[in-house]
Amino acid sequence: MFRIQQCRQDMGMSQQELADLLGVTRQSISLYEKEEREPKLEVWIKLAKYLNVDVAYLQGVSDVKKSPTLDELEMLQGERDLYCPYCGTEQMNPWELPTDEGETECDYCGREFHYECEVEVVYSSMKLEEVL
Ligand SMILES: [Zn+2]
Repeated sequence: MFRIQQCRQDMGMSQQELADLLGVTRQSISLYEKEEREPKLEVWIKLAKYLNVDVAYLQGVSDVKKSPTLDELEMLQGERDLYCPYCGTEQMNPWELPTDEGETECDYCGREFHYECEVEVVYSSMKLEEVL
């Protein structure tokens, strides 16, 4: 179920305003919203841009309204610093660890150590939204 109408209304936009932004007719927007016509990929991308959500969310495929941008991901990564207790080397990919707590191998010295990440460490999209 498309969320075009819902997202447009959330933005306080009329069908005409959205149509003007996209360079399509108001009738096209109406048809998209009623799912009587499927937007082309490039239209989906524009819709997502102007409605400030992910394409998959608009399409009703995903419940993640907006994925973090690269900048935001880097910010998250910064919160996930993880250091080897033996050699002190910062680990390259702490955000790829599957759980908040467990055993991992040091990138540098190869020794296994137990890690426990801070609560800011996030893996699911739901938690991502909480942090952002
Ligand atoms: Zn180490």
